[in-house]
Amino acid sequence: MFQTLLIANRGEIACRVAATARRLGLRTVAVYSDADADAQHVRACDQAVRIGGPEPRDSYLKIDAILAAARAAGAHAVHPGYGFLSENEHFARACEEAGLIFVGPPAQAIAAMGSKSAAKALMERAGVPLVPGYHGDEQAPDFLHRQADAIGYPVLIKASAGGGGKGMRIVESSGAFLGALRSCQREAASSFGDDRVLIERYITKPRHIEIQVFGDQHGQYVYLFERDCSVQRRHQKVIEEAPAPGMTAERRQAMGEAAIAAARAVNYVGAGTVEFIAEQDGRFYFMEMNTRLQVEHPVTELITGHDLVEWQLRVADGQPLPARQEDLRIDGHAIEVRIYAENPDKDFLPSIGTLRTLRYPEHAAFAPGPVRIDSGVRQGSVISPFYDPMIAKVITHGADREQARRRLIRTLADTQVAGVHTNKTFLQRLLGDAAFAQADLDTGLIPRRHDALFPQAGAVPAAVLSLAACALLARQGLPGRGRSPAPPADPWSARDGWRVGGDYHQTLSLMVGEQRHDLRLERQEQNWRLQAADGVHLLDWQAAARPDQPEAQSLRVWLDGAEHRGQVLQDGDQLQVSLDGADWTLSLFDPLLAAGQGRDEGHGGRLTAPMPGKIIALNVDAGASVKRGDVLLVMEAMKMEHSILAPADGTVTELFFAVGDQVPEGAELAAMEH
Ligand code: ADP
Ligand code: ADP
Ligand code: MG
Repeated sequence: MFQTLLIANRGEIACRVAATARRLGLRTVAVYSDADADAQHVRACDQAVRIGGPEPRDSYLKIDAILAAARAAGAHAVHPGYGFLSENEHFARACEEAGLIFVGPPAQAIAAMGSKSAAKALMERAGVPLVPGYHGDEQAPDFLHRQADAIGYPVLIKASAGGGGKGMRIVESSGAFLGALRSCQREAASSFGDDRVLIERYITKPRHIEIQVFGDQHGQYVYLFERDCSVQRRHQKVIEEAPAPGMTAERRQAMGEAAIAAARAVNYVGAGTVEFIAEQDGRFYFMEMNTRLQVEHPVTELITGHDLVEWQLRVADGQPLPARQEDLRIDGHAIEVRIYAENPDKDFLPSIGTLRTLRYPEHAAFAPGPVRIDSGVRQGSVISPFYDPMIAKVITHGADREQARRRLIRTLADTQVAGVHTNKTFLQRLLGDAAFAQADLDTGLIPRRHDALFPQAGAVPAAVLSLAACALLARQGLPGRGRSPAPPADPWSARDGWRVGGDYHQTLSLMVGEQRHDLRLERQEQNWRLQAADGVHLLDWQAAARPDQPEAQSLRVWLDGAEHRGQVLQDGDQLQVSLDGADWTLSLFDPLLAAGQGRDEGHGGRLTAPMPGKIIALNVDAGASVKRGDVLLVMEAMKMEHSILAPADGTVTELFFAVGDQVPEGAELAAMEH
């Protein structure tokens, strides 16, 4: 086998590839941008080469810089990971021309699958079933409109060059077609530099089922079964599992053989994924082929017992596939979720900051086990605006789906992240939701279960508020259950309203989202009373600091006699309460801040940029009168669009930027008069 492998990626996938390469005795070389000098993937490799600035186009997308790094380090092979250059035919070709082994398919196979339209034409010839639709070259709007009418509504317009769900538009009726076409073309041109589209029948209540395929350089192919990625948000995967619930042996074989036919049609080599959209009755159609290792590949590794990166490296080295089809078996069930630094209460806006706390229960990293965690960050790492805000993939394996699901819920409950917002509680709710638990799966599950998955911000259990309040009291050295009252540890930090030696009281305001909760805590002799909006409660607690983790407290709280056990992590004025497997982020309300500009502005309606990004649309002109909630402008940041809304009725007096401008975080975007 070749000796030295350069990993042309960062984060979780770079660490994951390094783990296998090292196990196989290869020397590993990392590349890094200035934002990543101290990153985990740099530490995971034997050598690291700086390739440029933090923006991906200045580093991880810079083919010349990566090839120069490979030359300097004496690398023999290059693994592209996923994202970045992994599906870039020019990169694959440049590696070959530089005498490097590209750990992926030949450039011509990447090119053949790069356009969804061209790939569909090819698949049609190979006899792979397709969603009814139009995927030809003719792009005149009237012509496409007639095609859509003939297919029958609803239809889906997709960017041929698309990926990541971008540009996709569902059209419900003929009258809405031309408007949707224009908007898809606009997004396609700006995201992919190519405005060509294809049209498909929009399948209602579909499932996304994909097949992992592998080919070697000797013309052999196998499929490593399926993954079900039906649980999606905005056409992006949220939960991935294998095998697909309800899959029959016959259909598995039919899909596996269709996927191999797809791979064979382009002389595919290495790991690839053929994505199908499936109707509830099981009929399935080719959607696209992803010509790389997939983010969700660990679920396949856990049910087959094979290391797919090892397979990739062996195949790239010219070795035959490590197993034949008849040797491959499915063992149990595996489920994966991705913990992201993002805020589900703010439309999943990426959350930038330092991971002050990052702790997992016992697990294997990048390796099989009932609990596997793949991550490219550690406690203290910074989630920057430059890259995907993924914190970790958490994958569990069980004898059956139910065991894997319960294990995953438990693992998430025992995972602590503080410093940034995360989707962890949302994932826990989703995994616990009845529709998911019963495998009632389709790509509309999240919108269908919206009310259960996004409970009202106001509905905070009293126990959560009590835990936060007791943690704050305990930090002030005040006594809980079984201890006699003592004065606050530091009399200078005693708050107004405390009378040492007499009865105590203290008032406290906690914010949960936009909701403010005023609490009054009172101690009379040996007892605490909590006065909240819903009345007066009896309260008591025991707190244990954790020597290993000064910012964390374990608490037992008795609220009207009922016991609740939880954890409170404090970071400045932020409190993260974990109770019964769910996390709540609370903050101490600061009246001075609220009087000025602070958090009371409400509903993402701030007229400042929530993060660095680019202005992509101005929906109003200066002088326009707007209603609260109207979209004033749209920014693009971290590959997502964010609408900036009017915080109140009023007049827009000034817009400070034009379309195309880059804006720094916190920049004032517009001025309004109310
Ligand atoms: P991308 O390149 O963005 O991954 P895909 O073609 O793979 O694009 O589609 C992404 C998702 O969009 C699918 O997983 C599915 O949820 C949805 N989708 C795609 N095609 C259809 C269709 N014809 N009908 C219904 N949903 C579809
Ligand atoms: P899939 O999620 O099925 O692999 P996509 O093609 O939509 O399909 O996306 C590839 C994955 O690569 C995404 O999940 C995304 O999170 C990840 N990704 C894309 N760009 C980057 C990046 N710059 N850094 C880390 N991960 C990335
Ligand atoms: Mg896809």
